[in-house]
Amino acid sequence: MYAAPDMSTEKTQGLVIRMADFSESSRVVTFFTRDWGKIAVVAKGARRLKGPFEAALDLLTVCNIVFIRKSSSGLDILTEAKLQTRFAPRAGQLLNLYAGYYVAELLAAFSEDYDPHPRLFDQALLALDWFSAENPPQLGVMRFEMVILKEIGQLPELDACVICGNAPASHEHPGFHAGQGGLVCGTCQPRVRAPLAISAGGLGLLRQLADDSEIAWKRLAGSPAQWRELRAVATAAICHALGHRPKMLRYLEQ
Ligand SMILES: [Zn+2]
Repeated sequence: MYAAPDMSTEKTQGLVIRMADFSESSRVVTFFTRDWGKIAVVAKGARRLKGPFEAALDLLTVCNIVFIRKSSSGLDILTEAKLQTRFAPRAGQLLNLYAGYYVAELLAAFSEDYDPHPRLFDQALLALDWFSAENPPQLGVMRFEMVILKEIGQLPELDACVICGNAPASHEHPGFHAGQGGLVCGTCQPRVRAPLAISAGGLGLLRQLADDSEIAWKRLAGSPAQWRELRAVATAAICHALGHRPKMLRYLEQ
């Protein structure tokens, strides 16, 4: 294939995280790719019924793609997309579907063009697998939230008080303050505005959700009260890191 000097052809694996119509026949597809991070490419003919990409391009499909990367101005161009897997939670499992959309929203919002995070890519596919099976979506959502915060260096401090540096004593109820960066011990809580309450048990669950182990978090069992606590903490941490509230969150907080 002819390629001008300011272009290069790249191959990678990509997850479709956004699609927008571009012209009467084309779409701009945003992929979170394993090797290049986020990329937006023009898929010519993608809006035609029998287009060159057939059914490969859909929100949350995983494809093997080939694209032409332009080093100068102009959008990159998708030349090939072979469908690998399609995100398909069981019929009627709306929460699992929304959880998948939330993963796409977080990836789009937290990642930068051409800034690869292969571990995050793998974790996103694991999260979608989790939501496709009959697993509790909330657990997978919180796991992915902790993973993405860790990957971008914004995981809140969960071991020591962010004000005094001491580990909270076992008898006291620590608090959580996203703006301060994490845990606030009982002594320091009067110094911050409206910390969230977190029980020792809830904190233990949160630490395991943020752990690198792929085994521990899947076995977590907490009380409904603990999960409510953690949902509030995870929401605060995500909203603080992002600077706004993700749109999909309201569907997941019910
Ligand atoms: Zn303290």
